[in-house]
Parts: sequence; C-alpha cells; structure tokens
Amino acid sequence: MTIRNRIALQFSLIVASILVAFSVLIYFVSATYRREEFYERLKNKGRTTVRFLVEVKEVDQELLKIIDRNTLTALIDEKVLIFDAHNRLIYSSVDDQVIHYNARLLEEVRQQKEIETFSGGNELVGILYQQNGRDLVVLSSAYDQFGKSKLDNLRLTLGWGLLGGLSITIGLGVFFAGQSLRPINRINEQVSAITARNLQQRLDEGNRRDELGQLAINFNDVLHRLEQAFEQQRNFVSHASHELRTPLAALKSEIQLGLRRPLTVPEHEKVLVNLLSDTDRLISLTNSLLFLARTLESIQSVPFQPIRTDDILFLAKDELLSAKPAYTIQIDYENIPNEETETLVNGNEGLLKQVMLNLLDNACKYSPDHTAQVRISTDDQYCRIAVHDRGIGISDADRQHIFESFYRAPNAMVYDGFGIGLSICYRIIELHQGTFTVDSQLHVGSTFTVSLPHV
Ligand code: ADP
Repeated sequence: MTIRNRIALQFSLIVASILVAFSVLIYFVSATYRREEFYERLKNKGRTTVRFLVEVKEVDQELLKIIDRNTLTALIDEKVLIFDAHNRLIYSSVDDQVIHYNARLLEEVRQQKEIETFSGGNELVGILYQQNGRDLVVLSSAYDQFGKSKLDNLRLTLGWGLLGGLSITIGLGVFFAGQSLRPINRINEQVSAITARNLQQRLDEGNRRDELGQLAINFNDVLHRLEQAFEQQRNFVSHASHELRTPLAALKSEIQLGLRRPLTVPEHEKVLVNLLSDTDRLISLTNSLLFLARTLESIQSVPFQPIRTDDILFLAKDELLSAKPAYTIQIDYENIPNEETETLVNGNEGLLKQVMLNLLDNACKYSPDHTAQVRISTDDQYCRIAVHDRGIGISDADRQHIFESFYRAPNAMVYDGFGIGLSICYRIIELHQGTFTVDSQLHVGSTFTVSLPHV
C-alpha cells in the first residue's frame, strides 16, 4: 500500500470513528430524552384523570371519557386504567377494547409507587394514588407516534450525514495526502535523474525550513561530498598517469639517444646512470602510489592501541636520520606534561610514525639548513606536535591545496617528491580524530602542527 493511501485510510478511519461516535451519542441522547419526556406526559395524564375521578364530584366516568378523548393532548392508542385496592378496574378510558392487565404489575406499582415500562410497542407508566385512605393504581399507556417518527427522521438524517461525511472525508484524505506527498514525489523524480555522470545536479530545496527542505539540503550535502570524492578520484588517476608518464618519457628519450649513434664507454655509462636515476624515480613513485592505495584501502580497519606520541616521534627521527644522515632534528618539550597520559594517544603506531616521518622529511628537505625543530606540548585535552623549519615556506594560495594528492607548490618543484605524503598524513590524522594546521610564510619557514586527543 502506498504511503498516500495509508495516510488517507488512517485519516478516514479516525474521522469516521469520531463521526460514528457522535452520531450514536446524539441518537441515544435524543431517544432517552424522548422516552423520559413521554413517560412524564403519561404520568401527568394518569394523575389528572385520577384526580378528576376522585376529587371532582361533578365529573362522572362518562364525562371523563369524553374529556379524555377530546383533549388536544390525546395520544394514539391511549389508555388510562384505574384499579382499586382489590385489583378491580374502576375506570377505563376505552370501552371498545379488551383490557389486559397483570396482577403482578399492579402489585409492583403498589410497592414501588411509580414504575416506567413497556407494553407491546407502547410506553406504560404505573402510579400509586393515595387519597383519603384509598389506594388506587393508575396505569397509563400510549404510543408516542410523534416522538418516534422524529427519532426515525433523526436516524435517517444521521445515517445519510454519516455516509456523506465519510465520502467527503475519504475524498479529502486522498487529496490532502497526495498534496502533502507531492514534494516527495518531486524529490524522487529528481533523485532518480541523478547518476554518476551528473553529480553536479542538486535537488530543489523548497523553503529550506520544513522536513522535506531539510531532507533535500542533507541530500545535496551528500551529493556535494560524493562529487568531491569522484573529482578527487578522477584527479588522482590523471595525476598518477601524468607522474608516471614523465619519468617514462625521460627513459625513452635516454634510450633513443643511446641508440642514435655508436657510443663510447663513458657515454654508455652516462646513459646508464641517467636510466638508473629515472628508474629509481619510477620505483619510488610506484612505491608511494602503492602505499597511498594500501593506506586508503585499510585505513578504516587498522588496529588502535594506546601509544606515546613522543616515543613515535623519536622512532621516526632515528629512522629518518639513518636514511638521511645530513638532516638535523631537534626535539623539545614546550611544557613538562602534568601527567604521563598527556602524551598517550589512542592510535595506530605505523600510521602515526608515517605522519611524523613525512613532516620531519619535508621540514628538512625544503629548508637550506636541513633542520627540523619539533616542539611537543600538552594540555588537558590534546597533545600537540609542531614541526618547524626555516625553509622555502608556502604561499597562502598553495596552502589551500597542499593536502590534495599530487599537489606540489611551484617553489617545491626543484625538490624531489610527488605531492602524496601530506594527503596521506591528513587522512591519518582525521582518522585519529585529530587536527592539522599549517602556519607558513614564503622564504621564512613553515610550522606544521598536529593535535591529537590524548587518553
Ligand atoms: P612532496 O613533499 O613529496 O611534494 P607532500 O605531500 O609531503 O609531497 O607535500 C605537498 C607539498 O606541500 C609540497 O610539494 C610542498 O609544496 C608543500 N610543503 C610540504 N611541506 C613543506 C615545508 N616544510 N615547506 C615548504 N613547503 C612544504
């Protein structure tokens, strides 16, 4: 069942229940009111008749019958019977009918003094009249044709009203449910038109305030992130191919040069040295790409454990210095940690060491003195590692892009590198719920600060 039909059905059921309940209530209140009013009339009639008979000497039974039959208030099938203490009928308002009465009923009246009951389709009241030591039982009955036909009319009106009300409710329910779900249908159509080829398309955000507006805004956010991810992927592939093409082209031209004419042994050696350096660059690039691919692939599933950031930093320093002994790395504590745990973070040792290695390597690589100064500081929430150098610096425009894969600032082109390291570092720090900030000035130096929440 569609949501529209479900809403319409629920709405109709609720309104129908309310309508039925109200109709039944109105009918029963009216029926009770009619019955009570009619019983009251019958009692008055019985009392008046017995008073005329007993208290007014001038009125005899014949005159009373004539009065009874000709009053304006005379009712259909009306009967007034009066019995004495020995259940003898002493007055009957009708002559031509056989009169049935029930001794038990008369006894009941004597006990309860007043009863309201039915006889056939007629309402019947019995009252005990006590005057001057005489106990008379008056039975008064009639058929309330006027009241009952009014009640029939009411039932008919309520029935048709109910039917009409229900039809209108169902119609309105379907209409309004359709109206309120129309924006969803529109969103649905727009979403189904979005494919990997047109991710730049956005949903109509309507008034941006109601639930559907919010849904469209959130969906557009997801689309934006998806588009960025696709874009990054595309850039990654094109950058990777470009990076691979350059050393391959260099390799080819070296080989062509070597083949053009017979070479002397020193010339051969020169060509081979060039080939070796280009091949090294290729190997190093493929290793970086492989590392990037593996890191991104497994980054979500690496094991985490409490590790000391300063220990990792010293490990990275040792590793880097053993590979590049010309570098100088100075590590200082800005403040003595209040507690041991202030440098303890929950993380992956291998990944965090990779971040430190990259930052230290960059600092030494991009500064003429090949020196990196590291400061460790802590507060009650974070452990910070700031890697500072007095190197070439980064311009404001380049700073926006250095965390993108393969991006290299123009002033860094003369140095070795592929522009992959910082993009990996950024993802690793993000995974550790930390932050990365860069403070840099061209020709003066740079400071890369990593903040990690400690345990
Ligand atoms: P790579 O160093 O291999 O080029 P990275 O991803 O580590 O790749 O760095 C990206 C870019 O950021 C570098 O090409 C460079 O332009 C800039 N950069 C990074 N660290 C420094 C630094 N310490 N000083 C100046 N520029 C830097």
